[in-house]
Amino acid sequence: MIYSMPYGKQTICQDDIDAVSKVLSADLITTGPKVKEFEDALSLYCGVKYAVAVSNGTAALHLVSLVLLKPEDKVLTTPNSFLATSNSILYVGAKPVFIDICEDGNIDLDLCEKELIKDPKIKAIYGVSFSGNMLNQQKLKWLKEKYGVIIVEDNAHAIGAEQDNIKAGSCKNSDCSIFSFHPVKNLTTGEGGAITTNSKEIYEKLMVLRNHGMERKVDIAPWYYEMHSLGFNYRITDFQCALGLSQLEKLDEFLEKRRSIARCYHNGFENTIVKPLYSYNEGSAYHLFVVRIKSNSKKELFEKLIAHGIGVQLHYIPINKQPYYKGLGYGNEKTSVMNKYYEEALSLPMYPLLSADEQGHVISSLLEILNG
Ligand SMILES: *Cc1c(COP(=O)(O)O)cnc(C)c1O
Repeated sequence: MIYSMPYGKQTICQDDIDAVSKVLSADLITTGPKVKEFEDALSLYCGVKYAVAVSNGTAALHLVSLVLLKPEDKVLTTPNSFLATSNSILYVGAKPVFIDICEDGNIDLDLCEKELIKDPKIKAIYGVSFSGNMLNQQKLKWLKEKYGVIIVEDNAHAIGAEQDNIKAGSCKNSDCSIFSFHPVKNLTTGEGGAITTNSKEIYEKLMVLRNHGMERKVDIAPWYYEMHSLGFNYRITDFQCALGLSQLEKLDEFLEKRRSIARCYHNGFENTIVKPLYSYNEGSAYHLFVVRIKSNSKKELFEKLIAHGIGVQLHYIPINKQPYYKGLGYGNEKTSVMNKYYEEALSLPMYPLLSADEQGHVISSLLEILNG
């Protein structure tokens, strides 16, 4: 048996293909009825008032930052994310402040509170539900009530996640949440993203900024529009939303499969030197399955796993250590938990189509390589 697994991939079925084909032969292939249908289905799924679908997750973060931040605002954020989370803060001239993570890979909200006490200039917290494991909702609620801080949940990993009956994207304890529908994520539209919020004011601003800042005024004239804010073209197409709708119907099945793979990995690595990032969490959306391994050469381990047909990845290189960020003066923050995490972390293959045989191969190969 020759194995060849990526660390993550999409699940596209015939009904997805049919749904896209149907829209491709319709009159409107961008901003037609499917966009609104997808947004309505998303808001219903998440239990939130409003959803705005956009061209990708980074665009979603950019629009959120445009609406919620002002230049020079300080924003607490995590070094353990994809670049886009903190880049979106820089896009609008605001200042990311990198805070260390907890052992579960999420931003340390207790450290965030210390910063909020020290520095009243801090306007917002941009946290990430890392790997699909939501930010501690009780702590978010506390920080919001006590300090009035703006909270953005980057839920790019977490569509379908739940904590104490609070669904990712419901914005129960945050101002906005964003999703990404890139093919490795739990639900895909090819490229795509969305913002959810319970604020009508934020929603209306996002809708305008997604489309160049254009506001149509048909009551004045059928052709008339005005621009009051500098927006972008961050629209998503109708056929992408048709794919999103079709994927959303299957999301709970995808999640069940991801959770069963997580259980299989937990069993396989019990009492070994391979330590899953956190104990099994039924509420995690398991976008990633990260393990921690103390090894002398992670590069060698990576190469051996890839030679066994096992696509591994590393999520993430600390953002504050990137050359661009170093050029801005970042990189020397006290992020010892993150630094140690970065030395030990490894993401194993995790996607609904991963077979039981492949899961077994991942477990036995990893243990064999480490014990070899
Ligand atoms: C994927 C991802 C993004 C960016 O989404 P795109 O759709 O690729 O632009 C942002 N944040 C996190 C945590 C991600 O994983």
